[in-house]
Amino acid sequence: MSTPLDILVSVFGYHAFRSQQAAIIDHVVGGGDALVIMPTGGGKSLCYQVPALVRGGVGVVVSPLIALMDDQVAALRELGVAAAALHSGLPAGEAAAIERELLAGRLKVVYMAPERLVGERTLELLSRVPLALIAIDEAHCVSQWGHDFRPEYLGLGVLGERFPGVPRLALTATADGPTQRDIVSRLRLADAALFTASFDRPNIRYHIRQGEGLREQLLAFLDAHHRTDSGIVYCPTRRRVEETAEWLARHGRPSLIYHAGLPADTRTANQRRFLREDGLTMVATVAFGMGIDKPDVRFVAHLGLPKNIEGYYQETGRAGRDGLPANAWLGYSLADVVGTRQLLAASDAPEERRRVEQAKFSALLGLAESTGCRRQALLAYFGEQLPAPCGNCDNCLDPPATFDATEAAQLALSCVYRTGQRFGVGYLIEVLRGGDDPRIASLGHDRLALFGRGQERSAAQWRSLFRQLAARGLVSVDIDGHGGLRLTDAARPVLRGEQRLHLREENGTRERRRRKGGATPVLASAEQALFEALRAERRRLADAHGVPAYVIFHDATLAQMAAERPRTLAELAQINGVGAAKLERYGAEFLAVIARAE
Ligand code: ADP
Ligand code: ZN
Repeated sequence: MSTPLDILVSVFGYHAFRSQQAAIIDHVVGGGDALVIMPTGGGKSLCYQVPALVRGGVGVVVSPLIALMDDQVAALRELGVAAAALHSGLPAGEAAAIERELLAGRLKVVYMAPERLVGERTLELLSRVPLALIAIDEAHCVSQWGHDFRPEYLGLGVLGERFPGVPRLALTATADGPTQRDIVSRLRLADAALFTASFDRPNIRYHIRQGEGLREQLLAFLDAHHRTDSGIVYCPTRRRVEETAEWLARHGRPSLIYHAGLPADTRTANQRRFLREDGLTMVATVAFGMGIDKPDVRFVAHLGLPKNIEGYYQETGRAGRDGLPANAWLGYSLADVVGTRQLLAASDAPEERRRVEQAKFSALLGLAESTGCRRQALLAYFGEQLPAPCGNCDNCLDPPATFDATEAAQLALSCVYRTGQRFGVGYLIEVLRGGDDPRIASLGHDRLALFGRGQERSAAQWRSLFRQLAARGLVSVDIDGHGGLRLTDAARPVLRGEQRLHLREENGTRERRRRKGGATPVLASAEQALFEALRAERRRLADAHGVPAYVIFHDATLAQMAAERPRTLAELAQINGVGAAKLERYGAEFLAVIARAE
């Protein structure tokens, strides 16, 4: 029998397991159940693919999305592994053929939609073949607490009973306690060993920007660091998705869109193109992304605020799954803070739930406004301690200036109070800076002692200050839609002078200084040309075989080829990601490209 390491090297072409992979695989090969919690891009697939190949019989993998099963199957077939997917999208004849293969013991891995698996016909079919294991991917879909609840997942509870002695794994990137408990009880995994990997994604560089003109800032960032890369831009609404995509395309970025309001076939087509082609930007709502396992997404940007840190981390986690440097970029303005607060307040969820959602949003704002290491804050939220600042986030690389904002904040808060706690930020700034808004005179606000007392700060600086007061919960935003500010209890100690406030300085030079700050490509320019030539060869082969480019080789593998320039098949086999099947299938082609570059 092959060992897991043999399989890793010969089939997958990798040299070593990552973090918990070896322990999980040993446990499952030994027949144990497991609950695996690993961040997106952590390497969950190998945790069931390798044991499926080591143990006798077929590995059954439950996956929620049809389109992605097909790509997983294509990837396994490229590795020389007999794999198939059974789901409702198949023509009847094809499903029957796969079932025959399964019964004949010719398949090593079979992917199934949950509703298909728990149908009595399929259960009966599976009872007639030896099973290596049952893996339930995206297992948080079984939990009503999660954001991706799928009722079909509830039926999976029967599997332990129906297939006693077959090891079962549940895998997810969602870590919180209630979800974990739901997974264990609904999937009846009480005896499963729990494996949690670190949530750190060290190759992702986090950047969070505040202020105005964010779209332009984002474009400048992408032009500086990601000219030809694939990436995702998340927007909070469908309208912003469409506007942003159009705007990016006009500025020379080939962009696709994805949101729940599009016809299903448009969504599928766009997702497919994004997965298969290089260098596209997907502009989307959060409806896009679950299970997207494209390894070479080089950036994930947010225009506007996510609702909580879980969502933000899951979305940014789609960047850099191949382990190469990647950027997460978030930009938001005061209007985004106000908008999301209003949205959450106006939801018709029960009171308790709304309170939790507001608290989670506050935690996200805390991260966004923080002046310390982003990674430390993120990991702390998931209960992990990073002992030192990471050195790979915006605040570590370029510490933001702060100032004692106590007096300015008192002035701003008084202005809210003295004008009756009903005006939005635009008007308040007019009053503070002594502007000529006609309402000021008619309401007598020009007779307030604080009228015009804030002239030494620009409107942008006041805007930044109000944003930070709102983010820290010193003012709340009216939910009637006019964006009027009110003081909260938290404002009192500041107004009374019992608490000093240190806030981020808005100075506008920051973005210009920082354009150099992105995670940079890994290759020197001499290697870059060869890398591009290898990519072109990959494109050609992918088109010829009808598979996504990354299924042939990952960027990381091509980058290593470009750097090391192997001359023989034996040398090529040493490159990470070159397994036996791919060596035989594509080795000669890629060696030829390298030889031509000599
Ligand atoms: P997840 O499902 O946890 O989000 P994947 O299983 O898709 O992550 O793995 C992420 C990427 O890392 C994939 O491209 C995979 O091929 C790669 N990978 C996983 N394990 C290893 C390893 N031990 N060595 C090298 N690459 C790995
Ligand atoms: Zn940091």
